[in-house]
Amino acid sequence: MDQARIDALRGQPVPPFGHLIDGKIVPASDGAVMDVTSPLNGEVLTTSARGTALDMETAIASARTAFEDRRWAGQSPAARKKVLHKWADLIEAHALELAVLGVRDNGTEISMALKAEPGSAAATIRYYAEALDKVYGEIAPTAGDVLGLIHKEPVGVVGAIIPWNFPLMIGAWKLGPALAMGNSVVLKPAETASLSLMRMAELALEAGLPPGVLNAVTGEGAVVGEVMGLSMDVDVLVFTGSGGTGRRLLDYAARSNLKRVYLELGGKSPNVIFADAPNLEEAAKVAAGGIFRNAGQVCVAGSRLLVQASIHDEFVAMVAQVTEQMQVGDPLNLSTQIGAVNSEAQLAQNLAFVDTAQAEGGTVTTGGTRVLQETGGSFMAPTIVTGVTPDATLSQKEVFGPILAVTPFETDEDAVRIANSTVYGLAGAVWTSNLGRAHRMVRDIRAGVMHVNTYGGADGTVPLGGVGQSGNGSDKSLHALDKYINLKTAWIKL
Ligand code: ADP
Repeated sequence: MDQARIDALRGQPVPPFGHLIDGKIVPASDGAVMDVTSPLNGEVLTTSARGTALDMETAIASARTAFEDRRWAGQSPAARKKVLHKWADLIEAHALELAVLGVRDNGTEISMALKAEPGSAAATIRYYAEALDKVYGEIAPTAGDVLGLIHKEPVGVVGAIIPWNFPLMIGAWKLGPALAMGNSVVLKPAETASLSLMRMAELALEAGLPPGVLNAVTGEGAVVGEVMGLSMDVDVLVFTGSGGTGRRLLDYAARSNLKRVYLELGGKSPNVIFADAPNLEEAAKVAAGGIFRNAGQVCVAGSRLLVQASIHDEFVAMVAQVTEQMQVGDPLNLSTQIGAVNSEAQLAQNLAFVDTAQAEGGTVTTGGTRVLQETGGSFMAPTIVTGVTPDATLSQKEVFGPILAVTPFETDEDAVRIANSTVYGLAGAVWTSNLGRAHRMVRDIRAGVMHVNTYGGADGTVPLGGVGQSGNGSDKSLHALDKYINLKTAWIKL
């Protein structure tokens, strides 16, 4: 990828964004808009529609009608597959435009966005396009005088609420399997990163997805998100975001139609380094990347570094050295390794975590401050805090920022106990040359995904889901399809 092509797009004016309802781009019912502020320089990039309750209700009604008349679910699998592949083609054709727009909106470094956003989204859509005609029903092993059939049906209207860190990648994790199984979807992008996802949704229409099958409404979570959560016409809610919002969604479901709710929430994932790690230098490099890329705004970020005491000081020094060499800055520069924090509010929250960590006895080894303030953007130095006890706030609470908490341990039992001492269970890693130890750690550390001698990078063939308060249900892989189907039994007397 060449920098000149990115630079040509970086200053382009961005037109105002509306909702996508029933195949048309429309403004909010009362005309209200929200400023979209870029975390790169604090400037207003454009506006997006500030959705009203009526907008969300209209979008849901459109999705419901599209589902009931089977304009999508009723098409042949081959026809649906073709549309989804065409959509992936269009995402790839617009990859640079989508990536740059997304970066200007959310601050992710472009090197990461190019890989993780349009590229990954297109691959996900293709994966589920290919899967959709390989999902069979079943015949039950009944007695000979009956026939038991198990049909797999689309659920109906899916409400998808998306966060701001990787809008295209995470959006595709929900949209791919939901649409592949014949559902209609109403999408609710995050307030601070909606533009590229709205554009990607528009491309689905261009690819031939019938109007109403995919609607997208922007606006405040507490307004349009709540209407979606409380709707009697949404059958499944799929969500990635904070635990607080996850709890609200469960409450909305309980207060309305008992819709299914799948939550991918936060984590406080342990990266456990044993003295017998095969390559400490590599471990240090990956540990730094595993927390600091995208300014730590990654749900599976390895935010707790548990280091065996015998190598603690040596290893922390290695991680600090890698960290201090990481380039923080202009997210649209290809050599930048750490982009902007998504918003000023998020940055203030990160800095408050550093204060708390110090007040609770932690030592800031590197970073800890805001940087590049002269740019007008929201940037933070990658931060390592050592001496963080397992019960400290920095060990217990998800920051969602570039802050690594370091805690020493002595034995395998210690490592497991500390690793499991949070309410979360999203991801983790163990670095060791001992095969038995590696498998024991994979078994004993409570997490949806465990890495061995690496961190991150698990592709679309494997599920991603949390245990404990990290959520339920999986994105990615064929297992994700289960969220978007109902099993129906046909019991036939022969
Ligand atoms: P974060 O703290 O990481 O921004 P949130 O959970 O607040 O995470 O946001 C993730 C998504 O949830 C966003 O799209 C946001 O608009 C949406 N959201 C926030 N509050 C609510 C709510 N009360 N009901 C439904 N959706 C919400």
